[in-house]
Amino acid sequence: MKKIPYGKQQITEADIQAMVSTLQSDFLTQGPKVAEFENNFADYVGAKYAVAVSNGTAALHLCALALEVNETSKVITTPITFAASANCIRYCGGEVVFADIDPNTCLLDVDKVRALLEASPKGTYAGIIPVDFAGYPVNLEAFRQLADEYDLWIVEDACHAPGGYFTDSKNVKQYCGNGAYADLSIFSFHPVKHIACGEGGMITTNDSVLYEKLCLLRTHGITKDPEQLEENHGGWYYEMQDLGYNYRIPDVLCALGVSQLKRAKENVEKRRAIAARYDQAFNNTPIQRILPSEGIGHAYHLYIIKVRERKELYYALRRKGIYAQIHYIPVHKMPYYKKRNNEKLPIAEAYYQQCISLPMYPNLTEEEQHFVIDAVKEFMTCEV
Ligand SMILES: *Cc1c(COP(=O)(O)O)cnc(C)c1O
Repeated sequence: MKKIPYGKQQITEADIQAMVSTLQSDFLTQGPKVAEFENNFADYVGAKYAVAVSNGTAALHLCALALEVNETSKVITTPITFAASANCIRYCGGEVVFADIDPNTCLLDVDKVRALLEASPKGTYAGIIPVDFAGYPVNLEAFRQLADEYDLWIVEDACHAPGGYFTDSKNVKQYCGNGAYADLSIFSFHPVKHIACGEGGMITTNDSVLYEKLCLLRTHGITKDPEQLEENHGGWYYEMQDLGYNYRIPDVLCALGVSQLKRAKENVEKRRAIAARYDQAFNNTPIQRILPSEGIGHAYHLYIIKVRERKELYYALRRKGIYAQIHYIPVHKMPYYKKRNNEKLPIAEAYYQQCISLPMYPNLTEEEQHFVIDAVKEFMTCEV
């Protein structure tokens, strides 16, 4: 029986050739492909600067470092995300506070965040990390207004949403990661994400000061830039000016990223076509969908439905070789966070009882998709 996963990378002959030619070049790590990937990616999302790093988690960690998160920092994020969105704050000793989600979008609820901010003295919180969960872009304009009122930074976790956009109050399409409203945005190039490098990540921003800091922190806090050096002993000389990390991504993987990025736009369209077929198929059934509102360009990293018999559906699909997944087990319910905060977030917890992510990736064939749709409908005893 053929297995149908929930997500899968697409590797073409051109991708392979791109990697092979970099392998045959002089550079295995830090060569010309890193800058090319950064420049092309910045263009793709419409940001001024992009910093390529070893993975999405490293990107989050560098953001927290660049924003000077420390033991006194409290940061708000969503419970319906991958753990890394929250963990980056803990890496720097800060405290994570989870706010509940909006039941319609399943994104961090701006009103819940406002309520948290209003309940504490100004200056209690340092920042907000909204997540474009499943590829549904967060309305960052609303978060920016709130952030400005309370003097907070915003890191947009856009791992699910390269190519997605929301429409702001001036009727402008704001692409995820374009830096218009968020201070920093991050992406991942894990194989299930839109652009696959194996491991890889990117930070985008329009802020030149943050950009310089990120570049320094990515390579041990070391610089050779004559303009930045405090002293200069000669051609060999470098300085470690801050405590950084080795979060570099190799040139070979950037070659793959550059090649993948060429198909990113086309693949978002493929994802939207798949979503439209699911939407259509589940019309007039008890299967609940998360439909994007007007002005939203959903990037469909995931296609999620909500059903009461979720656990049974999960196993029924597996018996047919369909490997649907659950996104996500709420992060605030993880033992590590539960023992710190023990928050009650009823909307996120109810969402988790019902959600299931159906197969969604550019190479999913119509035939495979119909097999999935029929299996879901059959289980739900709908007519197929
Ligand atoms: C994948 C992902 C990450 C982490 O990315 P890695 O490259 O796997 O480290 C962070 N946040 C979200 C929402 C993700 O989906």
